[in-house]
Amino acid sequence: MNNDKKNIDVAVDELKKLIDTHNNIVFFGGAGVSTESNIPDFRSSNGLFNEKLNRHFTPEQLVSHTFFVRYPEDFFKFYKDKLVYRDAKPNKAHIALAELEKQGKLKAVVTQNIDGLHQMAGNKTVYELHGSVQRNFCTKCGKFFDLDEMMSLEGTVPKCDNCGAIVKPDVVLYEEGLDDETVNNSIRAIAEADLLIIGGTSLVVYPAASFINYYRGKDLVLINKSETSADRMATLKINAPIGEVLGKAVLDK
Ligand SMILES: [Zn+2]
Repeated sequence: MNNDKKNIDVAVDELKKLIDTHNNIVFFGGAGVSTESNIPDFRSSNGLFNEKLNRHFTPEQLVSHTFFVRYPEDFFKFYKDKLVYRDAKPNKAHIALAELEKQGKLKAVVTQNIDGLHQMAGNKTVYELHGSVQRNFCTKCGKFFDLDEMMSLEGTVPKCDNCGAIVKPDVVLYEEGLDDETVNNSIRAIAEADLLIIGGTSLVVYPAASFINYYRGKDLVLINKSETSADRMATLKINAPIGEVLGKAVLDK
């Protein structure tokens, strides 16, 4: 039977069975996991017009290392407006994953998101491939600032209250490499998993998207509102909002 034709409840029942029969589950997630917490994908925004340069810049250009160094005003204007959501709360997807970790079934969350909502929901083992807005460090003296502290520093460009240098979010910018340890931990977790659940990502962001090639398990679950590049590898595909799906599979009794 074609998975596309099955209704969501049937698919959720199948997912439930898979979760029941596996104890080394890894979840790999993207922006779609946080949209139900009202955090839009920043790449869907319009970017910013720079008056001094009389040019329009794309979201990807604005969140680049070049922009951070050369045009910190524009960088932080866009960053604070489109990447930081201080009031965002974990949704059912985050809560369900935290519950699975508590039950000892889920061994790791690998995420492309930078919002810190998995930890907020209670997950302990979270590999953040692109870093987190929750952590910020002075580029000179290394002083740590949490999100609220960074946001309350005066001016558009946050300056360290200890030495005056720019404070940089612990977020991987375009042109910057991923953290080696985070990458290695993510790959190891995926390689050792007996069930991989991928959700809220169309798997277009490389190199993260290539991580699934390390998976050796039998079953691969894909939960996404639209088609993904890994659809042909999936043994179970659920085209529905991830909060709804994981909520029903894990939280509903
Ligand atoms: Zn400093």
